[in-house]
Amino acid sequence: MNEELQKPVNTKAIKDLLSLNDSARIKSWLSICSRCGLCAESCFFYLAKNKDPKLSPAYKVKATLLELYKRKGQVDRAFLQKCHDIAWGECTTCKRCSLFCPFGIDIATMISTVRSICHSQGVVPEGLVRTSTNYRESGNQMGMATEDFEETCSWMAEEANDDIRGVEIPVDRAGARIMYTVNAREPMYYPQDISMMAQIFTVVGESWTLPSTGWDCTNLPMFAGDKALAGQVVKRMYDKAVELGVEAIAITECGHAYRSALFEGPYLAGYRDGKPPVPVIHSVRLFYEYLRDGRIKIDPQKMVEEPLTYQDPCNVSRNGGLWREGREILKYLAKDFRDMTPNSEYNHCCGGGGGFIPMGPEFKRRRMESGRVKAEQIRATGAKIVVAPCHNCTDQINDLNKEYQLGIKVVSFKELITERMIVPDEFKPVASEEE
Ligand code: SF4
Ligand code: SF4
Repeated sequence: MNEELQKPVNTKAIKDLLSLNDSARIKSWLSICSRCGLCAESCFFYLAKNKDPKLSPAYKVKATLLELYKRKGQVDRAFLQKCHDIAWGECTTCKRCSLFCPFGIDIATMISTVRSICHSQGVVPEGLVRTSTNYRESGNQMGMATEDFEETCSWMAEEANDDIRGVEIPVDRAGARIMYTVNAREPMYYPQDISMMAQIFTVVGESWTLPSTGWDCTNLPMFAGDKALAGQVVKRMYDKAVELGVEAIAITECGHAYRSALFEGPYLAGYRDGKPPVPVIHSVRLFYEYLRDGRIKIDPQKMVEEPLTYQDPCNVSRNGGLWREGREILKYLAKDFRDMTPNSEYNHCCGGGGGFIPMGPEFKRRRMESGRVKAEQIRATGAKIVVAPCHNCTDQINDLNKEYQLGIKVVSFKELITERMIVPDEFKPVASEEE
């Protein structure tokens, strides 16, 4: 018999978790669910696998959390492994199903509780365990040293000056208006993202800084069911913002980072009123304001001519409320915008959310199968370009592009804006002035 399955289960710890915080609310959801099935068609896992009833949101909760309550936490490792497979492999906690439930039952919150229970017994996808170790040891998901981060920033500032004169990337500048935070994949794999944002900030004359700690706004422990670590991760960012005395924390084009900083993070970090200590703004909102206020002007000759569509990241649009802003930005940038069906707050998850991408190769097949719904949505638009203001969506749609041969390119708002904004003369690099 598998050794893992022989390990003892701390059923008292499970029972304690079942009676914590949310238990009254969760018990009431479990008792009022009428099994009407209205949530089923809302879930892309269900739709992607021939409407398998076992993939309906209500069933996923019935097979895991309801059972845990019924058994009062007296379960074995085989049962926990089943919970693991459902909670991480069959739900991205995208919250779409709640929009369709007549009682507004929050399936995602219940699945997150299942994840916490599995985590308490060490039953967690390996990929997420690795990122948690990185957060613990270095404060960011990539395990990047502070010196390397600061070095990357200064290298990117140098590079940015090839395009925009006078770009600086200030670190720990007290009293700046905005503390800009990034996804750790940016300094590690896509440093040009930092350079592009610095160019935009320079042209609009923004007062900004990057922090030397708490600069990684991602929060994968939130998806690993590790609430204690998730609280530490987000608190590190809040504390730095308070220390620097900034007016707002700005979040890069990342969906779950916004979910963490804006509405899950305060509770995780112990703010009982549910409000972050410093206001949080997503870069989609920032870009919208800069364009609306004329601080960024787009060269009409450079507007995108090819058909283009927009991927609403669940945690930016549905859960973050910014679906209108995303489309307003596109009015400045694209001539042939084609929305997906459904879209905005009703858009389907890309299939890479909820920690799915960092969960690693063993989950990739499921990710590709369930992503069929997104691939079909994109194909139906006829778009050649997909704008995705989220790193997870970008990675997932790039994988779907290969899997389903969509023939598309995935871009961020930063890329579209920096390539098309009108650069005032004072910011033109000396070489281009002389030309
Ligand atoms: S939260 Fe999203 S992925 Fe999870 S069951 Fe609901 S619709 Fe499906
Ligand atoms: S729609 Fe709501 S009440 Fe109906 S099965 Fe789904 S969770 Fe239960």
